[in-house]
Amino acid sequence: MEKIANYIDGALVAPQSNEYLDNVAPAIGQVYSLIPDSTEQDVEAAVAAAEKAFPLWSGLSVDERSAHLERLATAIEDQADELAMAESVDNGKPLSLAKTVDIPRGSANIRFFSHAITQYASESHSMGDIAVNFTLREPIGIVGCISPWNLPLYLFTWKIAPALAAGNCVVAKPSEVTPMTAYLLSKICEKIGFPKGVLNILHGLGHKVGNAIVSHPKVKAISFTGGTATGAHIASIAAPKFKKLSLELGGKNPALVFADCDFEETLNTVVRASFANQGQICLCSSRIYIERAIYDKFRDAYIDKVKQLKVGDPLEEGTAQGAVVSEAHMNKVLGYIDLAKQEGGKCLVGGERAHLTGRCENGFFIYPTVFEGLKLSDRVNQEEVFGPVVTIQPFDSDEEAVELANGTEYGLAATVYSSNVKRCHGLARQLDFGIVWVNTWLLRDLRTPFGGAKSSGVGREGGFEALKFFTEAKNVCVKY
Ligand code: NAD
Repeated sequence: MEKIANYIDGALVAPQSNEYLDNVAPAIGQVYSLIPDSTEQDVEAAVAAAEKAFPLWSGLSVDERSAHLERLATAIEDQADELAMAESVDNGKPLSLAKTVDIPRGSANIRFFSHAITQYASESHSMGDIAVNFTLREPIGIVGCISPWNLPLYLFTWKIAPALAAGNCVVAKPSEVTPMTAYLLSKICEKIGFPKGVLNILHGLGHKVGNAIVSHPKVKAISFTGGTATGAHIASIAAPKFKKLSLELGGKNPALVFADCDFEETLNTVVRASFANQGQICLCSSRIYIERAIYDKFRDAYIDKVKQLKVGDPLEEGTAQGAVVSEAHMNKVLGYIDLAKQEGGKCLVGGERAHLTGRCENGFFIYPTVFEGLKLSDRVNQEEVFGPVVTIQPFDSDEEAVELANGTEYGLAATVYSSNVKRCHGLARQLDFGIVWVNTWLLRDLRTPFGGAKSSGVGREGGFEALKFFTEAKNVCVKY
């Protein structure tokens, strides 16, 4: 059985404990590889390697750093098929999704920041004939990047790329639930001779090796994507040590469907926004609010479309819904389905585990599920389920739509569907979210600020926002 290795100082190495954890392929429900159960000692080794590499890496010209990242992006593209297959097996997502979204975005993230750093300039503030100020934006040093399991290589590269481009050395940890593509990335780094110690990748448990990265005194900034409770815990460790913190956390995202929307286009987009990646995208719409005038018509058409989503082997063409990521996660999602029933929700479609036959008979599959009749205050409308479970409900006015949309502790992404431009602009201002999409969903421009309001996070990723996070601003005031 394949043993995944840590990547420290340019070499693939076993964890110092020599202990391993099981890595399960969720579509077949079987252990298929082993993950290092890394500890504080591995973090020490990675930090030492990063510290040694920092003067060299941060001292390279921007063009040289950019060229290293370009090579890495190209090498990912060259191995795209292998990476897509690995992502699908490790995560349970349809291979078609890994091929068209996850892996292309992995290389695009690295290429984007290899270019962005060449355009990153700093400010100057003139004080007339007295003095001039200019801002130096210098790399921080060693930074920690911790990512989740839902979009493994996509989110891992989204963090490490700006950190590296800005001249930092990185100690990174992918989710222990989906370690494979980060491991393959470390093999790619080794193959192309990516500078040693600049990127170090440790595998293992969050509360063990993740905690050790966050706590290490030489790790000066933490970029974290994951659950809100984990984010709060990480902040409680990092904040008293005055580390820079970027937190991308959970969501409970509303979609507001108005009667004047483009019906067919909205229908297709809302189905995709509800169930892409089995609903396991932080940006997925999980509360669908529909203007009463079209409620019955939209609901019936929506349910028809959801019924057509084929739950199946992720490796088979035509599969729209693969496995959810783990048995524990499947049980959590099924628990919310039970809760929705107890709370009085009417299940319109799905509502149970899907039992496949053949290769996937032990896999962790759930039918796409839609409830109606739940109140905003019900737990299923307040808590993040992070699976293929959606609630729908009618609304009667723009004011009510805003109230419903804003009525949870989360504020990641809201979506508005309407052809009334004035209304769309007005709502965009009133919605308390980091991202508002109008008549679209998950349309991304990597230059834009990305992140959540309220309990969905602190700080923004993307474009120069990310480069600002991964640099320390120093003002230099020169008197004439
Ligand atoms: P998680 O919080 O359980 O884990 C995320 C990462 O943190 C993993 O690598 C984990 O090992 C690590 N970790 C856990 N405990 C830690 C600790 N004490 N110290 C340091 N690291 C620790 O989240 P998950 O279940 O992997 O991912 C799902 C969550 O991620 C959902 O809430 C989802 O909304 C969120 N998410 C948010 C975004 C965003 O951009 N806002 C994107 C994707 C996922």
